[in-house]
Amino acid sequence: MAPVFRFAPSPNGYLHLGHAYSALLNFDLAREVGGRLLLRIEDIDATRCRPEFEAAIYEDLAWLGIAWEMPVRRQSQHFTDYRAATERLAALGLLYPSFESRAEIARTIAAEEAKGSWPRDPDGAPLYPGIARSLSPQAVAELKQADAPMALRLDMARAIAASGPLTWTEQGTGPGGETGTVAAQPGAWGDVILARKETPTSYHLSVVIDDALQGVTHVVRGQDLFWSTSVHRLLQQLLGLPQPVYRHHLLVRDGTGAKLSKSTGSTSLRELRAGGTTPADIRRMVGLSDPAAAS
Ligand code: GLU
Repeated sequence: MAPVFRFAPSPNGYLHLGHAYSALLNFDLAREVGGRLLLRIEDIDATRCRPEFEAAIYEDLAWLGIAWEMPVRRQSQHFTDYRAATERLAALGLLYPSFESRAEIARTIAAEEAKGSWPRDPDGAPLYPGIARSLSPQAVAELKQADAPMALRLDMARAIAASGPLTWTEQGTGPGGETGTVAAQPGAWGDVILARKETPTSYHLSVVIDDALQGVTHVVRGQDLFWSTSVHRLLQQLLGLPQPVYRHHLLVRDGTGAKLSKSTGSTSLRELRAGGTTPADIRRMVGLSDPAAAS
């Protein structure tokens, strides 16, 4: 069967050079091995995603010379798939609801940090302190009634006990040069949120479900997502889903060494295009050879 690659941007801003690199790399790798390239729009966050950004993704990718298969999978249209997965995890006794606001969690962590250090996840965010893990069924029922903010969290210790040790095949490199067979360390993320009341999924859950439903065999994405793969492998194992191989690539950085980001206003592909940059220039800027020159 032909290998299946995917590019999975979120339409919450315009694509920049980092996206161009990731999309072109997926496109080139798929072509090299006679594989397929899928495009997935990761638009679960209704507050940040906008139709004009989605339209710009199609336009920018086509301008770069990238071709992808239709139909495009848009995550916002598949909430029932993600709900079915949370129901399976709940039936395994691996989820629990938490009801605190972000501010309440931050206060609890600040109090803990005042006493000593508090563990942080691989992205640098403090781990959830597990406040809701011990709520009684009655307290849960009351909080649900009171319409408190609700998130469904993975009980990480139980999930790891259920899955046993896991690894993944890394064809690229991690931030510390990890490659080959990498040991997953999902515990480093704590009790991650898998769904919220207003959004019945999360990045981790939807990416795993979609990669499986779309038959993705090769996940090629930025190194910033390297350690997220630990959670993805865990969810794949718990849900009985196949594991793709992974290739995490270096991030494109700006002149100061910072990673490019939509939120800090890195120059978008459309601004570069408007300034006269060509798709061949973009390939050179991200260090990819011109496929026309290679063939
Ligand atoms: N949607 C994610 C992003 O834009 C990428 C997800 C993935 O490739 O796993 O950063």
